[in-house]
Formats: sequence, C-alpha cells, structure tokens
Amino acid sequence: MPITLPDMPYGKKALEPFISARTLEFHHGKHHKAYADNTNKLIDGTDLATTDLESIVKKAAGDPSKAGLFNNAAQVWNHTFYWNCMKPKGGGLPAGDVLQKINSDLGGYEKFVEGFKNAGITQFGSGWAWLILKDGRLEITKSANADTPLAYGSKPVLVADVWEHAYYLDYQNRRPDYLTTFIDKLINWDFVNSCLE
Ligand code: MN
Repeated sequence: MPITLPDMPYGKKALEPFISARTLEFHHGKHHKAYADNTNKLIDGTDLATTDLESIVKKAAGDPSKAGLFNNAAQVWNHTFYWNCMKPKGGGLPAGDVLQKINSDLGGYEKFVEGFKNAGITQFGSGWAWLILKDGRLEITKSANADTPLAYGSKPVLVADVWEHAYYLDYQNRRPDYLTTFIDKLINWDFVNSCLE
C-alpha cells in the first residue's frame, strides 16, 4: 500500500487537557485512518498507485472525475500537517522568522490571532483555517471540507482543523474556544518556522 497512516508526533494524551486522548483516538485512529484507507482503495490498480501523496493531491485537484480521490488524499495530507502544527506546551507568542514575518506581513501577533481565529470561526461548516506563504508573504485563509492551499501553489505553514470531529468531544459547539486554545496552548511554532525555511 503506497499511502500509509503516519504515527502522530506525540502520544494520545500529550495534548490534554486541551485536546483529550479520546478526541485524538477517534481523530487519528478512525477519521485520518479512513482517509488513508479510502485513498489506497481509489488509487489501487491505477497509474497513481505509486505516486507520492502530494502529487496525488495536486493531480486530483483539477480533475472533477477525481473529486473522491482528492477529498480523501487531501484529508490525509491535511491531517498529517495538522498533527505537526501542535505540540504539548505550545502556543503563545512565537519567536524567530515567523514572528518577523507576522509583524511585517500581517501587522503583528495580535492581528494574526484575530485573523486566524476569525478565519476558523467564519468557515461555514467543515474545513480548515490556514496560515500560508503566497508569493513570499504570509496570508491567513480558510478552506472548505478537504480543500487545501497545497493544491494551488501556496505553501501551508500552519493549519487548524475546524471540522466538528476535531473539537466536539472537548468543546461541543464552542469552536471559538477551541481556536483560542489552539492559538494560546497548542501551536508548534518550531514546526511553523521549519516550514518557512
Ligand atoms: Mn479532522
């Protein structure tokens, strides 16, 4: 099978009390796994069977006949990226290159917090809030369902999953509280900085 479900970069209890082990068990063990399994079923026996995941996402993005493959493959990529965007004792004011670029491109950390949270809150239904590098500048954006800036020539550097399955067990309908906690307590800024290199 060419597409594998990666292990998470930390244990299932590592993000408690902010994201519970129960949420991560379902989110990684059921949701993320299902996207990987479905992707493998859809590429089995096709010319994409030995193609890497990023290339599958980009190739399927512009092809309406491959919408099902795009949805599953993009969700595999998005979730792996999302796990890396969090760590225990993360969040808060970043340092390094990302802080400099947040200051120069977004108008400062408070503007980032406001804009990123707003992107997640205003994504109607399921989707993702993103910080991306586009033409060398940081931008905040959002996407619906499985959609991903990876498919359109931007470089993702941070994402928050705002599908209900990401937060409902811990926050019920309080998506703004989940996003505030994500920003204040969970973001792995070292990973974000590594994406800027
Ligand atoms: Mn998810």
